[in-house]
Amino acid sequence: MVQLQKPPYVYMGGRITPWDEATIHVGSEALIRGISVFEGIKGYWRHDGSEFALLALREHYDRLLRSAELQHLPCAITFEEFREACISLVRRLLIKERDLWLRPTLFAVQGHWGEDTVTDLVITSYHQDKKRPDPIDIGISTWQRPSDSALPARIKAAANYQIGRFARIEGRRQGFSDMVMLNSAGRVAEASGSCVLIVRNGKVVTPPWHEGCLESITVDTIEALCQSLQIPFERRPIDRTELGIAEGACLAGTLMELGRVRRIEARKLREHCPVLDRIEDEFWACVRGQRMHPAVRLTTV
Ligand code: PMP
Repeated sequence: MVQLQKPPYVYMGGRITPWDEATIHVGSEALIRGISVFEGIKGYWRHDGSEFALLALREHYDRLLRSAELQHLPCAITFEEFREACISLVRRLLIKERDLWLRPTLFAVQGHWGEDTVTDLVITSYHQDKKRPDPIDIGISTWQRPSDSALPARIKAAANYQIGRFARIEGRRQGFSDMVMLNSAGRVAEASGSCVLIVRNGKVVTPPWHEGCLESITVDTIEALCQSLQIPFERRPIDRTELGIAEGACLAGTLMELGRVRRIEARKLREHCPVLDRIEDEFWACVRGQRMHPAVRLTTV
């Protein structure tokens, strides 16, 4: 559980800071209105333990800037500064036995209703097990993914996770570790912190962004891997009932990685789905440096 860790250091105010000193004022918009945008970045040890690398650093920086722009948060940090900040924190916290997940967050630390906004980039990082995620049981939430004109999924903002939190609490009571949220049309949007991929007739299918999902970096990577593996991949709306007949399903995201779905509500899925097995093997081989792929960009620390 990343939430329960208390690492000794955080990046804040342009420098490495002890965890206990990394505080934000109670009067800031970051707190009173939950104004922040963030990223989740995964770092992997190579398969032989010789190097540690951050995955898709540039893509995450670019999305952070897009979120900041849409949320009216100024961000003057260059990519080089961002990269150096991530690397400096990783070097403080890295241990041989575990991978890391980084959470760069741009907080509104001064300003009022979007006027005179001042931001600060804070990066926290947490240890992660090196093993592949276990299969998961998921439900379908009664909470709805808001539309682009209500709470845009494209902005990776703290506020978006209010709905995901509702869904998770609902799911936990029913014995599910995550929940699929539907959009206002009753079609599949995304899960609380990841995107949904299903397999139909040997083809990988995922909802396009306008169905209410984040512009996922992991999904883009999987699309590119599918192209190389000659596995058909399609972005199209997914009906709720398709979850009841899919040959396989997984949740995809930086922290979730590829979480194979074992059960959707009452329906148990087959243990093996050859298409997902092949994608998973390729994904893990690439992020662990056993194979190279142009879509899997690693920054060695
Ligand atoms: N949807 C939500 C709500 C998420 O929080 C995430 C994780 N960032 C994703 C989808 C997957 O995005 P990515 O693959 O870029 O991590």
